[in-house]
Amino acid sequence: MIDNKIVRTRIAPSPTGEYHVGHLRTCLYDYALAKKNNGQFIIRIEDTDQKRFVPGSMERTLQVIKDYGLQWDEGPDIGGPYGPYIQTQRLEIYQKYIQELLDKGLAYRCFCTQERLDELRATQKAAKQVPRYDQHCLHLTPEEIQKNIDAKVPYTIRMVIPKNETIIFEDVIRGKIKFNTNDIDDQVLIKSNGIPTYHFAAVVDDHLMEISHVFRGEEWLTSTPKHLLLYRYFGWEPPKIAHLTVLLNPDGKGKLSKRHGATSARSFLEEGYLPEAMLNFLMFLGWNPGDNREFFTLDEFVQAFSLDHLHKKSPVFDRKKLDYLNGYYIRQKSNDELKVLFKKFLPQASDEQINILLPVLKERIVKLSDLQPQTKFIFEDVDYDKSLLLEYKDKEMSKDLVLDMISKTKDIMSQIDDFKASNIQAKIDELLKSDNWSNEENKVGKYFMVFRVAICGSKFTPPVVDCLPALGKEKTIHKLDLAISKLTS
Ligand code: GLU
Repeated sequence: MIDNKIVRTRIAPSPTGEYHVGHLRTCLYDYALAKKNNGQFIIRIEDTDQKRFVPGSMERTLQVIKDYGLQWDEGPDIGGPYGPYIQTQRLEIYQKYIQELLDKGLAYRCFCTQERLDELRATQKAAKQVPRYDQHCLHLTPEEIQKNIDAKVPYTIRMVIPKNETIIFEDVIRGKIKFNTNDIDDQVLIKSNGIPTYHFAAVVDDHLMEISHVFRGEEWLTSTPKHLLLYRYFGWEPPKIAHLTVLLNPDGKGKLSKRHGATSARSFLEEGYLPEAMLNFLMFLGWNPGDNREFFTLDEFVQAFSLDHLHKKSPVFDRKKLDYLNGYYIRQKSNDELKVLFKKFLPQASDEQINILLPVLKERIVKLSDLQPQTKFIFEDVDYDKSLLLEYKDKEMSKDLVLDMISKTKDIMSQIDDFKASNIQAKIDELLKSDNWSNEENKVGKYFMVFRVAICGSKFTPPVVDCLPALGKEKTIHKLDLAISKLTS
């Protein structure tokens, strides 16, 4: 409870595409506020914009929120006492409420054609005025209205906006904000197809669903005075509203965009970010605990969350910070938990290979999708340029030296019966200790570079010896053969 009221929060996704990571942050804050205060967290689907409707988007949105572990108490799939939770299933409800506004003279039918509205707009723009409806239909007589209705002239329903009134609104994050009603257009509430606009449906639903707190993006701030007027017209108390800041690109410039990497909530899971790392990251994009703690589980966040620690300044979506948190959470996991995740991101690996690779790679990866590039050499022959085999610290080694190193390695590998890392390492140590390449400067460094490239086709790889048991003796020898033929062809 806050102020003696049950806390009910909601997210209101529109099924118009993939659920954005910015929406996921809103969802997290809604979840936390409701749970912290023993309230309810609700999902309502705002599908009134039929033109932008994307089939399957609602299902994917619900799934991704679930995958992040943010379980709702009421929603389209599980129902609840305030349903239905999909706006197009609530059209009768909106009809009833729009009739109330029409009856009170607080909304009116607008019969203007699209051509007239376009012309009006063009004229106003040419005169450097802000385009706005000129209230032509507000002044129709009851007879004119009836005539149009009888003639089945299509119409929208607009709200009446009072003249030159100051609306003061107390945003939970931003404090007092003032609007003058002269800056507000007579918003369409019901479209000509009978479906409400976002503004009308959201106000009616937030009221009927007894929503106590609304978190939404700052792009909605200018809509708030219209909503407040609607609450007043109905005689309803508005919820507390918090307009969250936008997330900025990692360079601090502009709203988070795809230019800097994928932005859908799903894409981060697909890249192998752990839900708990992502949530921990999002917690701090607009909130702080008031102390220097940096790691929070979801439950700890719920306990720590409070409205007075929300930020006014837009946060930067710092992917390096996300990587850091993800690495931390990966290393916090038990090997058994990680095994399941490794299998998902390395489906081509056998259980035995996973057992070998897990301890080696667990320490080195930032996200689970790093596993594929780091282990590519185990599952396929990586193509590389033979010059890579000869390069050492920007200088070229002699081909004879490199060939000798590879063929001697091939010999020792074939002598190992139990192909495990300690045996492989012992054999290599032996090879390096004997007087092979004794006149070579940096022979150990050179040897391991040649070995690494011959096995992995790259200079940047996980510890090769530790990975070799997952590659197996036969394939190791095959890679060395390939390197030899590369050099001799
Ligand atoms: N349907 C709106 C959106 O997807 C929700 C805005 C709100 O939370 O009021 O952005």
